[in-house]
Amino acid sequence: MSGSAGILFVCPECAEHIEVNESMKAAILESGCIVCGTTVRATAFECE
Ligand SMILES: [Zn+2]
Repeated sequence: MSGSAGILFVCPECAEHIEVNESMKAAILESGCIVCGTTVRATAFECE
């Protein structure tokens, strides 16, 4: 388990930039953006 996944989430709705790990990514895909709650697709995530 690496602690530095380096996944950048960019919300297509509110443009929030958040660095996330794998479990946060899964939670956002399931529940939506943690800021505005919009539905998020896998394309909103960028690997750095
Ligand atoms: Zn958002």
